[in-house]
Amino acid sequence: MLRILRQIAKTGIVTEPRPAPADEAVLVARLQERVLRTLGRALTIRQVDAGSCNGCELEIHALGNPYYNIEGMGIKFVASPRHADLLLVTGPVSKHMAIALKRTYDATPEPKLVVAVGDCGCHGGIFGEGYATVGRVSNVIPVDVEVPGCPPTPTALLRGILAAISGKAPD
Ligand code: SF4
Repeated sequence: MLRILRQIAKTGIVTEPRPAPADEAVLVARLQERVLRTLGRALTIRQVDAGSCNGCELEIHALGNPYYNIEGMGIKFVASPRHADLLLVTGPVSKHMAIALKRTYDATPEPKLVVAVGDCGCHGGIFGEGYATVGRVSNVIPVDVEVPGCPPTPTALLRGILAAISGKAPD
C-alpha cells in the first residue's frame, strides 16, 4: 500500500489538460440545431468499415465519449442500414468488402447521405488501388462529403457530418 502511495505521489497527474472548448462548443451547437431543423428528430448513422486499419474507427469512437458527446446532440449510431440516414464509411474499400458496401448502400432508405472518412476513404490513402483493394469509397458508391486526414480528428468528422446534412462542403 505504501509503495503504491509513494508511486502515486512520485508520478503526479499525467492526464493531458482539457483543450479550450470554444471551437467545439460552437460546432456542436450548429450541428445540433441543423439536425433538429433538417430532420426534427435524431440523425442515425451506420458506420461501415470497408477495410480501414482501424485508426479512423478510433476517432469515430471518440465521438461517443463525454467530451464530444455525439448522442447528446441527437446523433446516434445504429446497427442496421435500414434504420440509417447517413453512412459513415472508412476505407480503402477492400475487394471482399466492395459487395457488402454496395448492399449496405442499397439497403439504406432514401434520401441517404454518404460521408467518406480518412485519406483512405477519400482517395485510397497509403493503400491505393491494388490486387486487394478497390481504393476510394466513391469507386463503389456515391459519396456526398469527404473528410480527409490520417486519421481525421473528431472535430473534422463533426464538420463532415454537418456539411453532409447542410448539403455543403465542410468549412
Ligand atoms: S486514413 Fe489513415 S487511419 Fe484511416 S484507415 Fe487509412 S491509414 Fe488508417
